[in-house]
Formats: sequence, structure tokens, C-alpha cells
Amino acid sequence: MTLTVLKKLALLVGLEGVLLVAIFVYVATTITPDAVPASVRFLPYGVFVAGLLVSWRFRRSRLVFSFAVLAFADRGLLFYVGEIPDPASLGYQAVAFLLPINLAGIVWMKERGTFTPVGQGRLAAILFQAVIVMLLANSTPGWVNGALHLSPLPESWFAWTPVAQPALVMFAAAFGWMITRLVLRSNATGRGFLWALIACFLGLSASSGVPISTIHFSTAGIILIFSVIEASYFMAYRDGLTGLPARRALNEALLRLNGEYTIAMVDIDRFKTFNDRYGHDVGDQVLRKVAVQLERVGGGGRAFRYGGEEFALVFAGRVPKDVLPDLEQLRVSIAEAKFALRGKDRPKEKPENPEPKRRVPNKVSVTVSIGAAGRSDRRSAPSEVVTFADRALYRAKKAGRNTVKVSNGET
Ligand code: GH3
Ligand code: MG
Ligand code: MG
Repeated sequence: MTLTVLKKLALLVGLEGVLLVAIFVYVATTITPDAVPASVRFLPYGVFVAGLLVSWRFRRSRLVFSFAVLAFADRGLLFYVGEIPDPASLGYQAVAFLLPINLAGIVWMKERGTFTPVGQGRLAAILFQAVIVMLLANSTPGWVNGALHLSPLPESWFAWTPVAQPALVMFAAAFGWMITRLVLRSNATGRGFLWALIACFLGLSASSGVPISTIHFSTAGIILIFSVIEASYFMAYRDGLTGLPARRALNEALLRLNGEYTIAMVDIDRFKTFNDRYGHDVGDQVLRKVAVQLERVGGGGRAFRYGGEEFALVFAGRVPKDVLPDLEQLRVSIAEAKFALRGKDRPKEKPENPEPKRRVPNKVSVTVSIGAAGRSDRRSAPSEVVTFADRALYRAKKAGRNTVKVSNGET
């Protein structure tokens, strides 16, 4: 229980959070504004350009937009408000008000490309805001100024930040929404945006102005770059359907093995028939459920999706004899499980193509066959061990399925 809470917390904080806190503590305790080297002023240009290029190359249009927003906010403040944040300035409060709205809006958006019609619309919306802020900062209409400086709560409560209450509300709302999303479903991009939002707030609140605020805005950019890379890593190494590490991750895990180990190949029995009977969507759901069971295997086994309805389990430091009871238990628990199906994925009442009449029950079950092999003097390369595990799996199928077989080392 505490472990799941800790795990959830670690996922929430991530390396992005650690980075932000480290930089914040360093800046707060070590750096004085006049000790900041002049070159730091160029940091945002480097970070924002690198961020734009990386996110464009990785086709993460939402991050392209966020770098545009960050760049406009940071540079806009410098050019239209000046080096020191001026709470009375309309330009400053307008940027502080719009920044969280934009970041939250981008998190909410779906990935729809940068220069596609939708993407162009989004870029236009960002540019439009930049122009509006520029015009407002120059003309300072009284009613906008008044609205952005509204203070229904005592001002003394917020003396620690030059950000006025309307913008504070926006920050709080964006923060609350992002953190709720993240607790419900953690992902690298969502986490990056949450921490970037906090870094932006620190940047706006840095009362000494530019060198320090620049560091915080640049940190927001670095966090977002980091999240692009992390999300891409995830896409390359995780299987999108089951969430298990994918084949590529298995290949690398195999290369890291040394000493004793056991590899087990797990294949769902007669899954083609299952799909034919219940439909591919139900098949997908079952794959996810089986993946959850595999993740819970005892004996320290790590589960991977090998491809299709085949999975691999890697037990480092274990010989097949040791893991046999765990594999047996896994087989039984899958065979006994009744997987409840989500209604949404059950075939629609009136399928467009109604010929295969499918009656999908609320609960379904499947069985798996497992073949395991361990390292031995005769087969020490992991790829050979996989081959032997595959042969054992074949024997398990021949023996009637729903069975575990261990390689005898000969065949
Ligand atoms: P066996 O007991 O011999 O393993 O029989 P099988 O039908 O499971 O084996 P076969 O290799 O002939 O078929 C595997 C089936 O798994 C084919 C395909 O329909 C299904 N399958 C593979 N990947 C997926 C997937 O991602 N989703 C779904 N729903 N089905 C998949
Ligand atoms: Mg199969
Ligand atoms: Mg198969």
C-alpha cells in the first residue's frame, strides 16, 4: 500500500521535479542577481530554439506551441515590462494571466500537427495573444488594467509575489487541473507541463528580475525538452497496448544478463479462435488483462510483450527449477481468472457488418502455454536460451496447451 503511494509519488515528481527543485534551491541559496554571469542572458535563446527544434523533429506539436508561448512570455516581459517585474504593469499581469491558461490549454489539446490547418490555428491564437498583450502594454486601457489587478482577498496575503490575484487564480486552477490529471494517469508529457508551470510561476515571482527569472523560464524549457525525450523513450520501449516493456526493451535487457537466468515464453492458447469469436477489441482487452497478470509473476520475473499474443518473462539470477512454481502459479491464475469486459469495447448492438453473430459474455477467460529455458554451458547466449524456451513452448502446445514445459537442455 505504502509502496504504491510512494511509486505514484515518484511518478508524479519524476526527474523533472527533482531538476526544478535542485535549480530553485541552488538559485535561492547561492546566486545573487549581480553575480549571475552576463552569458546567462543568452540561455533562453538557446533553450527555446533547442526546444522548438527537438519538439518539431519529434513531431510533438504541443511542445512546439509551448516553446512559442514560453519564448513570448519571457522575452515579452523583458521587452515590454523591463528587467524588474512591475506588479503595477498591465503587460506583466497580462502575461502572468495568459501563461497558465495557455499551458493548460496545450495540455488539454490533442496532438494534431504543427503546420496542419488545426496547428496553424493554434499558432495564430498564440501570435494573436502576443499582439494583444503588446497593444495593451502600450495603451493600458483602464478597465483591462483594473480587471487584471482585481483583489477580492487581502493583498497582504500575497505580498510574496508580484503576480496579482486574477493571474494567481489562473495558476492555481491550471495547477489543480494538471495535478489531478497526472494522479489519474501519469505520463511524461503531463508531468513536464506541471513542473514547467511551476518553473514559470517562479520566473514571474522572481522579484529581483531578469537574470533570476530567466533561469527559471529556461528551466521550464529544459523540463519540457526533457519530457519530449522521455515520452519518446517511452514510445520506443513500451508497448502501446499493454503498457509492458516491448521487444526492443527485451533485447537490451537480454544483453545485460549475466550469470544464471531463466527466460520463459508465454503464449495465449487458441487466441485466433478467441478473436474470431469475440472480436479483436475484446482480444485487445484480454491482452491487457493477461499483461497485468504477467507483471505480478513471482520469483522476480520481468514481463515483456514479445509480439502479438506472445510474452516473455526474464528471471535474472534464477535457474528454471526455482521459477517453475511461479510459472505454474501464473498459468493457474490466468486460467482461473474471469476477465470482466468493459461495455464500451463490446461489439455495438448493431454492427455495420453483422455477419459473424457475436455473443460476448460479461466475463471471458483464456489459458496460456509456457515454455522456459535457463542458461547452461551449452547455450549461454540469451538468444539461444530464447530459442530453447520457444521449443519448450512448442512442446507445451503439443501436450495439450494450458501447460508449462521446461527445456531439458537437449532440444
Ligand atoms: P496457439 O494456441 O497455437 O497459440 O493458437 P493461436 O490461435 O493463439 O496462435 P496463432 O499464432 O495462430 O494466432 C495468434 C493470434 O493472435 C492471431 C491474432 O489474431 C492474435 N493477435 C495477435 N496480436 C494481437 C493483438 O494485438 N490484438 C488481438 N486482439 N489479437 C492479436
Ligand atoms: Mg497463441
Ligand atoms: Mg503465438
